[in-house]
Amino acid sequence: MSEITFKLTVVSPDKSLLVDVPVTAVGAKGTEGDFTALAYHVPFLTDLKPGEVWYQTPDGVRNLVSVSGGFIEVLPDKVTVLADSCEFPDEIDEERAKRAKQRAELKLKQAHELAAQGLLSSDQEAEMRKAEIKLHRALARIKTVDKSRSFKR
Ligand code: ATP
Repeated sequence: MSEITFKLTVVSPDKSLLVDVPVTAVGAKGTEGDFTALAYHVPFLTDLKPGEVWYQTPDGVRNLVSVSGGFIEVLPDKVTVLADSCEFPDEIDEERAKRAKQRAELKLKQAHELAAQGLLSSDQEAEMRKAEIKLHRALARIKTVDKSRSFKR
């Protein structure tokens, strides 16, 4: 992998996780697929799916952060993630994420039952969409914790 560094910033409305940290590679899940950015990458901007963003520091260590969606801007010398919310793996409360997953799954199950009977109102459908988003966020957090454990092994 390239030794040339560029800067990585990962922020959300309520926290700045990384600000101008020197990195040699960044990988993320864009809505159009996974990608890796190295120094001097052609500029682009894309939406992010809930999931992990990985980055490699100049010492060769790979690190993860979990993002629950947002945008990523890739420039030749700088990558910026504007996340809806973001956490380092060690910050993630796994039990909270599991509870969020269970709540979302229950809401989705109830909504699907109502939909099967043709009884889903437009408000309930909107709630179902929110539950889908919550489920993806919770799954992303749980997966980031799992992955970070396998990184440390
Ligand atoms: P929950 O239903 O558990 O609140 P959520 O998906 O609605 O989860 P968000 O709106 O994405 O939560 O995030 C709100 C704030 O809480 C953000 O600062 C986010 O980093 C933090 N957060 C959410 N879930 C967790 C978690 N499992 N562990 C640590 N921080 C979390």
